[in-house]
Amino acid sequence: MAIPGRPSAGAPVPAPGAGTSPASFDPAVIRRDFPILQRQVHGRPLAYLDSAATSQKPGAVIDALAEFYRQSNANVHRGIHTLAEEATAAYEGARARTAAFLGAREDEIVFTRGATEALNLVAWGWALHRLRPGDTILVTLMEHHSNLVPWQQVAARGGFHLRAVPLTGDGRLDRDAFTRLLEEHRPKVVALAHMSNVLGTINPVAELARQARQAGAVVVVDGAQSVPHLPVDVAELGVDFLAFSAHKMLGPTGLGVLYGRRERLAEMEPLLGGGGMIRQVEVERSTWADPPHRFEAGTPPIAEAAAFTAALDYLERLGMEAVAAHERELVRYAWERLREIPGLTIYGPAPEHRGGVISFTVEGVHPHDLAQVLDGEGVAIRAGHHCTQPLHRHLGVVATARASFYIYNDRDDVDRLVAALHHARRLLAGS
Ligand code: PMP
Repeated sequence: MAIPGRPSAGAPVPAPGAGTSPASFDPAVIRRDFPILQRQVHGRPLAYLDSAATSQKPGAVIDALAEFYRQSNANVHRGIHTLAEEATAAYEGARARTAAFLGAREDEIVFTRGATEALNLVAWGWALHRLRPGDTILVTLMEHHSNLVPWQQVAARGGFHLRAVPLTGDGRLDRDAFTRLLEEHRPKVVALAHMSNVLGTINPVAELARQARQAGAVVVVDGAQSVPHLPVDVAELGVDFLAFSAHKMLGPTGLGVLYGRRERLAEMEPLLGGGGMIRQVEVERSTWADPPHRFEAGTPPIAEAAAFTAALDYLERLGMEAVAAHERELVRYAWERLREIPGLTIYGPAPEHRGGVISFTVEGVHPHDLAQVLDGEGVAIRAGHHCTQPLHRHLGVVATARASFYIYNDRDDVDRLVAALHHARRLLAGS
């Protein structure tokens, strides 16, 4: 099956490796594009099951980063020489590609350092100025700290109330409680994750956003775990803001994206002042450039944006529907196989309601010990509270172990996880 590639808009350097990507969705073929997956860990082939923390990078992305520095490196926007023009084309081209990837307009894409900075920008730049003392911000109990702590900070500063939507027994949002909270508190902001980084729960954001907007709320979505793994179209979702990070979707660290509806970005205050974000500067006052540049003071992550274009090319050649279908199949398999292990508890809903993340505990074994024994077997998982302490408190555990999947994982990785868990139980739980 031939997978159509899309030309990258405006990038001066074609992504190396473009067109050499897999001819069909075959993780074994995909893995060959990822240099790090060829290495061994403790003498074993690497089974990388920590993509929810950060994804690995294909050669095309690594090459695009190096190629930018080799060929086009210059600062953006202010130069008239060839390299400055190429750098600007690479940076603004990445914005255009990101917009197309999400079904947004170019001027609705703000580049940040990551999802965390994007969410902080909305909280401090939009909510703090638009809400009044006594207004309510509604979050959920499954939020990552980066979609919770900034709201706590601005709530304390502005005199706002913070409420959290509770969860059902199987780790989904309690829809009745959500409706009730909307009616009782009329929140001005509803901030929620599209997909939980612990439970794997995929929230029905389009429906929730419609309900929230009808109740008068602005909807802020943490897409850090969804945009890398699911087809996401901002018009279909109907949200006001969407935040995510490039590094979780084959791209480099140090680059994030805030999508903001045009009218919302026009209402938002910049957090950082400096070069590139102004229209006119006098000694005592300044006026701002239009969005999105208003929110991008200083030298932006130019090389990272150029490399992100290569990441988007790679994902689009695979097709996000195919990416999501692959992970659905894999998580279903993992769910079944993990349940074979005595004393293992899986947190979160059945596979049909979740993406490629499975968190679990094994009776009598601390998740950190589990992760360490698995590392010895070449299986990389994560253990801890995964920046979701309120959720873990609700689950009644201090930590969980988490396996997460991406395009380069297959059933063999799951089999190795299961075999390593049996080994760890024998070693640590004495059974
Ligand atoms: N939200 C969720 C759901 C996440 O999983 C993460 C990353 N662990 C973030 C936000 C923050 O992303 P970053 O650290 O790249 O800013």
